Amino acid sequence: MNETADVIVIGSGIGGLTAAALLQDRGISTLVFEKNRYPGGSCSSFQREGYSFDAGASVFYGFGENSKSGTLNLHTRIFRKLGIEFTTIHDPVQIHYHLPNGFAVPASYDRQKFLGALFARFPHEAEGIKKFYQELEEVYDILSSLPAGSLEDLVHLASVGLNFPAKTMSLALKSFRSMGKTARKYIHDEELLRFIDIEAYSWAVQDALATPLVNAGICLADRHYGGINYPVGGSGAIPKALCQGIEKSGGHIRYQSEVTSILVENGEAHGVRLADGSEYSARAVISNATVWDTFNRLVTDSRYRVDENRFLRAPSWFQLYLGVDASVIPGDFHVHHILVDDWENYSKPGGTIYFSAPTILDPSLAPPGQHIVHAFVTAEIDQWQEYDRKSAAYSSAKEALAATIISRTESILPGLSKAIELKVLATPLTHERYLNRFKGSYGPLLKAGQNILQKPQNRTRIKNLFAAGDSTFPGQGVIAVTYSGVSCASYIARQFGKPLDELL
Ligand SMILES: Cc1cc2nc3c(=O)[nH]c(=O)nc-3n(C[C@H](O)[C@H](O)[C@H](O)COP(=O)(O)OP(=O)(O)OC[C@H]3O[C@@H](n4cnc5c(N)ncnc54)[C@H](O)[C@@H]3O)c2cc1C
Repeated sequence: MNETADVIVIGSGIGGLTAAALLQDRGISTLVFEKNRYPGGSCSSFQREGYSFDAGASVFYGFGENSKSGTLNLHTRIFRKLGIEFTTIHDPVQIHYHLPNGFAVPASYDRQKFLGALFARFPHEAEGIKKFYQELEEVYDILSSLPAGSLEDLVHLASVGLNFPAKTMSLALKSFRSMGKTARKYIHDEELLRFIDIEAYSWAVQDALATPLVNAGICLADRHYGGINYPVGGSGAIPKALCQGIEKSGGHIRYQSEVTSILVENGEAHGVRLADGSEYSARAVISNATVWDTFNRLVTDSRYRVDENRFLRAPSWFQLYLGVDASVIPGDFHVHHILVDDWENYSKPGGTIYFSAPTILDPSLAPPGQHIVHAFVTAEIDQWQEYDRKSAAYSSAKEALAATIISRTESILPGLSKAIELKVLATPLTHERYLNRFKGSYGPLLKAGQNILQKPQNRTRIKNLFAAGDSTFPGQGVIAVTYSGVSCASYIARQFGKPLDELL
């Protein structure tokens, strides 16, 4: 066995790094192994020809200033606790939606402006709109007063229950409700219900009926409070700052170090083995890999296998990272956009185009006179598996799909195809390879009607093996995996007799 630490973390995604940073700050030693040369996984940045692209995430919650915001504004409070300065730029619009039949609406930070845009399109539904979005505010109000911690930590649960009995009860009841069913209580207009679906789909890649109300309360209410804030330097600034926090208090991150197995004896994890055959021991192991990769690859004992169909597997992505001539982006263009040309296909592979131009907020991400356009659509790996990644056929399949996406995007960015100076394309195979994620998937999803609390928490069936990241509660999204890292660290810290201080 090589060097040891109290806790080994497999993967430097935001879930894993958050857990490591909080444990290390509490004096529990951590060692993070990352397969890539850089941290962050789906929330990393990569550089090409003078551009710094966001690999995946680019809409960020959790950087609001209010210090008393319970389970929200976690990034602000974690960086404050770690003593790391972090600078963001406020984004006045979460997403500008461009939908069929000329329906376009920016989801503005200013709540009245956003609701006003919906009232203008659906005057007959004004009351329903108010009531539906009010339900989301209620979830937000509860979450912003409950302290963050582990739902598996009985001491934490008892303290929250005793100090906030009414709010805890109300949240427990709301956890049974879906966003779509709640919308249908108040809203009947089909186009408006479609809009509620795309609001859910924008981050959950599921329609509103399959999306828990509690998740919606976080994303669709907090955008009007904490708001959307973009890190200076791009998405990779978040993992970089977490690594700084880990190293500052003596923790270690080892890059180009792929874990190939978790060492388990008598039902208990006690270390990991790397691709080069070296072994490292620890009192606890946290896996930041997906549930399928953890139990069907890293844990070799077949008794712990997770059936592929136990969870819905979200699709993967096809992504375009474009460097473009700045003149193609109009002066009043918003940063984040979602484009649906046809409601029948919005949830099918390629049906919805997400795109962003982060250089509007941070021009330093591109050479002078250039902008970045980052566009992506859902995609299934099955369509790509037949290709050899180095073949001409693979290149032409990528180019052909990219051309259709660029041409569709021209409906709101005329001239885009002619303005492209650099084009980098990524398929589900790229996601599988760079993110080490089973089938390049966005992760496991709940089935319609499942309670959000049925999402796996941080403990696993193997003693001293924990999980953090988007396979665990509450799910996908940088702020959600940050919560999972906080709850994982707080559970382990209590077990080790060094409970975390509350994040202020
Ligand atoms: C295209 C796209 C767009 C997105 N947009 C947004 C957005 O705008 N806003 C938002 O909030 N969220 C967004 N998300 C979701 C968000 O990025 C993810 O949910 C989140 O970053 C996942 O974090 P994670 O902790 O689960 O780890 P991951 O990001 O999955 O990272 C895991 C890390 O672990 C490493 N690893 C895995 N296995 C091993 C191993 N065996 N050994 C060593 N290292 C290993 C991987 O290399 C990787 O670095 C987007 C995701 C994608 C793909």
